[in-house]
Amino acid sequence: SAKPVFQTVNPATGEDGKAYDGHSLDEAKAVLGQARAAFEDWRRTSYADRAALMKTAAAVLRARKDDYAALMTAEMGKTLADGRAEIEKCAGACDWFADHAADFLKDETVDVGGPHAFTTFNPLGVVLAVMPWNFPFWQVFRFAAPALMAGNGAVLKHASNVPGCALAIEGVFRDAGFPEHLFRTLLIPSGDVAPLIEDDRVAAVTLTGSVGAGRKVAQAAGGALKKVVLELGGSDAYVILEDADVDLAARVAAAARMVNGGQSCIAGKRFVVVESVAEAFEQALVREMAGFQAGDPTSPDVRFGPLVSVAARDEIHRQVEASIDAGARLLLGGEVPGKPGAWYPATVLAGVVPGQPAHDEEVFGPVAAVIRAKDEADAIRIANASEYGLGSGVITSDIARGTRIAAEQLDAGMAFVNANVRSDPRLPFGGVKHSGHGRECSRYGLLEFVNVKTVWVE
Ligand code: NAP
Repeated sequence: SAKPVFQTVNPATGEDGKAYDGHSLDEAKAVLGQARAAFEDWRRTSYADRAALMKTAAAVLRARKDDYAALMTAEMGKTLADGRAEIEKCAGACDWFADHAADFLKDETVDVGGPHAFTTFNPLGVVLAVMPWNFPFWQVFRFAAPALMAGNGAVLKHASNVPGCALAIEGVFRDAGFPEHLFRTLLIPSGDVAPLIEDDRVAAVTLTGSVGAGRKVAQAAGGALKKVVLELGGSDAYVILEDADVDLAARVAAAARMVNGGQSCIAGKRFVVVESVAEAFEQALVREMAGFQAGDPTSPDVRFGPLVSVAARDEIHRQVEASIDAGARLLLGGEVPGKPGAWYPATVLAGVVPGQPAHDEEVFGPVAAVIRAKDEADAIRIANASEYGLGSGVITSDIARGTRIAAEQLDAGMAFVNANVRSDPRLPFGGVKHSGHGRECSRYGLLEFVNVKTVWVE
């Protein structure tokens, strides 16, 4: 079968970077066979042996932090500072799962009044991971660290624009001393994902990406009766109550919106503010957002670089213009700079209402949408009126009130009070509604790719 080529493009300049020869479907299947064979040995290793290798993977990551950050900058435009922090976070997750997997997967005795009954946790096999470019290392490691610790193997189909990162990640596991084929990268187009899902040697699938890709992969996995974890899009809403410290609200909102240049599933996208503080919040938000001036991502103190591609930038600009045409007020940004590369400024839209893309769609870039609400109940209603339910936030000076709203009223997988949503290996990560199902990170993430087995002995 035909061999694809993956051409990288530097988002800061628009210039072509390195090109990579990919795998044909036949080659990908041969690699899958090797991964399956490696799994048969790996499943019999001890947690202590796995943990030692996972700690070495963390050390490899830390030793190559600068190189990997530079690779991300070149392929998808992340700032070097963000890239270094991302590699450090991956290493931390490797350490954390190395330290906790054995305990989380200990046999559990169940008192059934006589016979010896217990629950034990077996690995599933080789998991196919389909991953996005926005956190090219973190998205993969937060899946791979627990999956490998549980005794699984993995094959990675990464986003087409980050082939160098995809191969580098395979190299981390190889160079850390994991069995040669236990974790393999497949450089394949998305059209080859469904035939791989149907292959008997794939035990389960995990996808992080858009709703459209999630639907396709879930359909293929459903047809093949395979377990699937889906981490899809988000349009996270932050509810800003009338008792909020408006400056704090604006700082949290801007930080939430501008994570990774706005290209994060858990970036704050909609800021639902109660009428009485709306004016003050809008002014404070514009001040905070104006602090994000786009600059050269390779410069160590720049915290906002280009977007991933000119095509992605053009789509965001379309969403902004269509929102303005439908009545939104542009308070900041909103103009495409006249230079090559995928540049777009920090942008604030106010007066956002249903019918505007900034209200109805996920905007995957540096565009904050301010929506006004009458009161607390109205704000919660608006926050929940989304096809998505990934992260969410509440800003209030009344901690009990904020906690109640976060815990009981926001339809989302994660709800943060007076802080912006973040991922953390210790805490479950995932969504409801079209944001997907299943969880990553924490013991819940570890349990996604195991056979929870009952054993009964008389
Ligand atoms: P995307 O187009 O869905 O790509 C994600 C991955 O899916 C890539 O590897 C892509 O491969 C693959 N893919 C696309 N279409 C496919 C298909 N029909 N069959 C099989 N695989 C397919 O996502 P994106 O636009 O790059 O990333 C942004 C989206 O991801 C946003 O919606 C964001 O919210 C979401 N996201 C979610 C999370 C989370 O944890 N919930 C985290 C980050 C991002 P190709 O590159 O080859 O097309």
